[in-house]
Amino acid sequence: MKDHSAAVLAVISEAYVAATVEGRVVQWNPAAEATFGWSREQAIGGDVARLIIPERHRDMYREALRRIAGGDPGRLLERRLQFTALHRDGHELPVETTLTVTGEIVHALARDVSATLRGSRFTVVEAAVLRGLAEATSSDDAAVRVVGALGVRMGWPVSELWLFDADRQMMTCIARHNRAGRDLTGFALAEMEPHAGLPGAVYRDGRAHWIPDVAAAPSSPRRRAAARIGLRAAVGAPIRSGSQVLGALCVFGDRAEPSDATLISLLSGLAAHVGQYLERRRAEELAIDLARTKDEFLTMVTHELRNPLAVILGTVALLDDDLEPAERHDHLRIIGSSAERLSTMADDLLDLARLESGSLEIHPADLDLAGLLHDSIATARIAAGTKDLTVRADLPFRLPLCGDPDRLRQVADNLIGNAVKYTPEGGTITVTAAADAARPGWVSWTVADTGIGIPAGERSRLFRRFYRASTAVAAKIPGTGLGLVVTRTIIERHHGTIAVADTAGPGTTFVVRLPRSG
Ligand code: ADP
Repeated sequence: MKDHSAAVLAVISEAYVAATVEGRVVQWNPAAEATFGWSREQAIGGDVARLIIPERHRDMYREALRRIAGGDPGRLLERRLQFTALHRDGHELPVETTLTVTGEIVHALARDVSATLRGSRFTVVEAAVLRGLAEATSSDDAAVRVVGALGVRMGWPVSELWLFDADRQMMTCIARHNRAGRDLTGFALAEMEPHAGLPGAVYRDGRAHWIPDVAAAPSSPRRRAAARIGLRAAVGAPIRSGSQVLGALCVFGDRAEPSDATLISLLSGLAAHVGQYLERRRAEELAIDLARTKDEFLTMVTHELRNPLAVILGTVALLDDDLEPAERHDHLRIIGSSAERLSTMADDLLDLARLESGSLEIHPADLDLAGLLHDSIATARIAAGTKDLTVRADLPFRLPLCGDPDRLRQVADNLIGNAVKYTPEGGTITVTAAADAARPGWVSWTVADTGIGIPAGERSRLFRRFYRASTAVAAKIPGTGLGLVVTRTIIERHHGTIAVADTAGPGTTFVVRLPRSG
């Protein structure tokens, strides 16, 4: 009989702990080892209060044992009791226990109920999140409410909401909740590369990720900071809008923990609410954007198309048979350049429409980017010469790449043409291209000028249709605000990126990164 009970205790999922009424451990089964972290050898003979009761509850616990020993256990025995236990690694866990006494021995059967409690707490969090989303006044406000609800009600020390910023090609942390006010130096990053860390992994794969212990995960860029702060398990769920992944909802716990399917699905459910909210919000913003674009389009048609037309019509009216040949030549030149402006605008608008509808195809071929840039620079030198600009090229002998030669030439012409256009007399334009040292298989190409620059606060808006920086408008330099949109669309169709570098001082630097394989 005795052998049978020992065999049963060895296999049951409940932790079995037996101790004398003085609190000395006499039995400790494998489930107790797993639940509390101490091995049987370490536990037997030890003080049960020191092993599994948090310090602040030990006096109360010893008092309860004294009452049991004195034969007056009150309502402690043979009922399910819930209390907070202590794990060997220092974290606390909720357990459900039944106590029985035989002679001088107190027997406890205990079960870790963290997962069950988590499930029921999640219902409360979900309600709080839905309420928060309904009351939010903006996407940022909504993000703060979501991470706040996760941190406060679920007890996660750190929760974060990350979204992919298409303009910057970076993962950006929209909101972070730091529950216990820990020092998050080195961990609380504002942005990360889209291929790095937990948010990057979730964004890239479009599925939830569980890291049992961030501090031990070699691929985690925040590993060291997490270890120092005491952050261990990490879970991230994708935030989606239809089939598109927008970002990741991430939580960090203070103990290492194996993957828990229930928690993953609960967090994914919350992330789905956030995704739906952002989708609604984006649709509203898009509608406003569309209305604004229509207005801007009309303004552009009236101003940008009418001006050159007025010049052409006015100049044609001046052409009569009595004009000197030199005067006639001047008038024809003015008509020619105005017609050219109209034609560029028409081309840009058509390109944009075709690129956006997907009807303009990219025909990749093996090409030499260095040669392509040399050709583009040679064309730009003519305009640059009239403004006394110096054009420098720092290019390798050859830079092979797979891409559409016509479209990439269009990108080069636009960037170098802009540099010439927005740089006053006497300035310098520098074009560089090389294999990207930081990213094998990629090339990096820059066009820098010493011109009128783009205020830092306006850079994120540059790639919007018709957007023109205040510096260009103030300098009264004509333009449509379409070239960069076409440029970026072409680069993205080559799976590359384009951005304005954060350079100090005057001028502007555009950085294009392209995969060599196209
Ligand atoms: P456009 O030059 O016809 O206005 P783009 O789409 O090519 O259109 O450029 C959008 C805006 O970006 C410009 O209006 C200008 O404000 C700014 N910009 C582009 N390139 C430069 C540059 N090299 N220096 C300063 N501003 C620039």
